[in-house]
Amino acid sequence: MEKICVAVRVRPPAPELSPENGSSLWKVEDNRISLHKSIDTPITTASYAFDHVFDESSTNASVYELLTKDIIHAAVEGFNGTAFAYGQTSSGKTFTMTGSETDPGIIRRSVRDVFERIHMISDREFLIRVSYMEIYNEEINDLLAVENQRLQIHEHLERGVFVAGLKEEIVSDAEQILKLIDSGEVNRHFGETNMNVHSSRSHTIFRMVIESRGKDNSSSDAIRVSVLNLVDLAGSERIAKTGAGGVRLQEGKYINKSLMILGNVINKLSDSAKLRAHIPYRDSKLTRILQPALGGNAKTCIICTIAPEEHHIEESKGTLQFASRAKRITNCAQVNEILTDAALLKRQKLEIEELRMKLQGSHAEVLEQEILKLSNQMLKYELECERLKTQLEEERRKQKEQENCIKEQQMKIENLNNLVTNSDFKRNQSEDFIISRKTPDGLCNVNDTNDVPGTPCFKSASRSFVVARSNNYSGLSDFSPMVHSLGNVADEDTWMKLNKGFVADLDQIQFTPSVKCQPTPLSIPTTECPRESYKEVEDLKSQIELLTSEKDSLQVKFNEQVLLSNKLMQEMSELKQETLTMKEIPNRLSESVANCKDVYKDVIVTIKSLIADKESPTANLLLGTTEITTSLLSTLETQFSMIMDGQKTGSSIDHPFSDQWETLRVSLKNTTTSLLSDAQAKDEFLNCHNKGQETAALEEKKLKSELTIIKERYNELEKELFSDKELLEASRESHEKLIKEVKFLKEERDSLDRKIFQSTQRMRVIASDKENALKDLNVEVKRRRDMEEEIKHISIAFATRHKSFVSFHSEIKSKMQKLTTQNSKAP
Ligand code: ADP
Ligand code: MG
Repeated sequence: MEKICVAVRVRPPAPELSPENGSSLWKVEDNRISLHKSIDTPITTASYAFDHVFDESSTNASVYELLTKDIIHAAVEGFNGTAFAYGQTSSGKTFTMTGSETDPGIIRRSVRDVFERIHMISDREFLIRVSYMEIYNEEINDLLAVENQRLQIHEHLERGVFVAGLKEEIVSDAEQILKLIDSGEVNRHFGETNMNVHSSRSHTIFRMVIESRGKDNSSSDAIRVSVLNLVDLAGSERIAKTGAGGVRLQEGKYINKSLMILGNVINKLSDSAKLRAHIPYRDSKLTRILQPALGGNAKTCIICTIAPEEHHIEESKGTLQFASRAKRITNCAQVNEILTDAALLKRQKLEIEELRMKLQGSHAEVLEQEILKLSNQMLKYELECERLKTQLEEERRKQKEQENCIKEQQMKIENLNNLVTNSDFKRNQSEDFIISRKTPDGLCNVNDTNDVPGTPCFKSASRSFVVARSNNYSGLSDFSPMVHSLGNVADEDTWMKLNKGFVADLDQIQFTPSVKCQPTPLSIPTTECPRESYKEVEDLKSQIELLTSEKDSLQVKFNEQVLLSNKLMQEMSELKQETLTMKEIPNRLSESVANCKDVYKDVIVTIKSLIADKESPTANLLLGTTEITTSLLSTLETQFSMIMDGQKTGSSIDHPFSDQWETLRVSLKNTTTSLLSDAQAKDEFLNCHNKGQETAALEEKKLKSELTIIKERYNELEKELFSDKELLEASRESHEKLIKEVKFLKEERDSLDRKIFQSTQRMRVIASDKENALKDLNVEVKRRRDMEEEIKHISIAFATRHKSFVSFHSEIKSKMQKLTTQNSKAP
């Protein structure tokens, strides 16, 4: 068990700053760094000790010598090793790792040192392969082969965690590697920010795989394989300072998030073993790749760089806290010896031995050299083949997943079809319903609305469908996996947490789990697969077209329904108007009766005043008639008020009533007028009463006949009242009917509203489903095209390689034959 080696390096102040701004507040003494308020006034709380502390005047040479050299030497011995630079942007990470012309950085020095070391070890044979990658926006890109983008991380029993498809160059000397690094540098993502004109926007990992075995055949057969990682991290950045926006901002978010996860991993690892729970290596690609270096089988050193300027004090403190925690991590490094064929060197050795055996006796050293060269080449091909194999396996898996996707899509489309059929069925029902409303009797069955089926099955189906889609597609793409979860990562708050060593709640900022790509089985001819896929895609397209037309027809029907509903609304408002007019009828009738009563009373009062003899039969008759008529009118009034109280509504037939009452009033007036004239005649008659008794009998007879007339008139009035009553009854009935009709129309309108709402919802769901399906389809088509392209490339590459391999074999064969013949001729 050994601790991670942690060092701090303070870079010189930026030259553009004035001397007082540039004067460092950090004081370095031996392996201790402390913060000073002013010169010689240390702030006790801000003093840190590390394995090494390098001040502003330090060189990369001294950093290499003191910090990294041992790890590099150990790597040559068979230990895994990792060195990485951590710190805020512009603090000197890249300067430390890459360096300058005059002062090369750790990577270059390591490369040279590895080969120097190898040359010093005479009893072992080495095979070195290198790779160079970057993690940009949480995607792994190959810096040695630009076409290898978005590579995936895999785990292998013997190889451990590895990046599939990453180009590994077999190298024979340091200069070759340095050239490769230079070519890789060109492909790195840099960008300009306020803080660094040449800011690294990605984490870069330079990796050397060192295989070695003893030259002495009698010694152990074991092969040592060690991995050396030299990492230049992108710097954490405070958005306010870098002034990042757009792409830079997005990059900053990814950078900060992955560094935060690195911080979390370091935090957890720095806890005592007992407290160590789950270490979230898998939360970012960086920590996943560095997993063996952090808390695993590796010798690791971290160089934490800080900027000396006062305005960077917070970031510097954050970096020092990170360093303090990292110092507590212990690793368990051991030499990696393997005995299986997984070691490339072992296989290569076997083949070379075979050739050597065949060549035994021959002194053709040149030829041996040639064969060695060819063997190296063969190994390269083999590596390439391996890479292709993994790629093909990937493709195969992708294909399977794609097939599943297509199946699911088909199911979804079927679902959609069912839904559309369902909605058609409901629509037809609703149309039937509307027609049934217009049956000849004009009355509709209110209960019909209750029979209209609801849409629960549709809704539940669509919801589950959407959920299924999101579940299936959230992980379908490997690309830009955390855009949505990054909302707050780069903000000030997060920055503060990052620099204060805050352990983030990873549940909140978790990456979307990456998803494996689609495979293409090698055994299936590449031309057939796309054809099938095209067919499926075509099917999908036609189904979508079908859906679109269904949607359009639904739209048309929906519009019709809206029109119908508008018409119904208009009819309803007309009916309401009529109902209002009807409501006023009893009121008016009652008023008319009251008027009649008043008029009648006036008339009676006048008549009474004209009758001199209050006891005369005429007066009695008048009194009787008055009582009857008054009670008649009161009855009428009561009737109307009863109607008013009972219904409080009316109908439009008020004119006939008014006419009736007008007739009634006129007839009453006529009666009173005739009574009045009779009374006057009687007065005259009384005046000349004394003239003779003989006319008395005649007069009585006349009065009797008048009484009969009045009685008849009364009967007539009664009849009229009766007919009025009937009329009123009829109007009441029609009024009731109208109320029912209105109620009915209201319900119909409500049900229509509901239906319109439901069909709108349905249409929205269908439209969104269609959109999603289209999107998926496009993604699918694009992916398939990409895949085809890739397969083509692979097939071509494979064919070419196969060809050259065959030719190489035949070449060897012919050379062997030549040698054999030479050998046989030699003696
Ligand atoms: P980072 O990679 O941390 O963002 P860089 O390594 O790009 O920062 O450094 C920013 C600037 O500071 C560069 O111009 C670099 O040359 C300079 N610099 C950093 N460290 C040193 C150093 N120790 N000596 C001289 N210049 C340095
Ligand atoms: Mg940098």
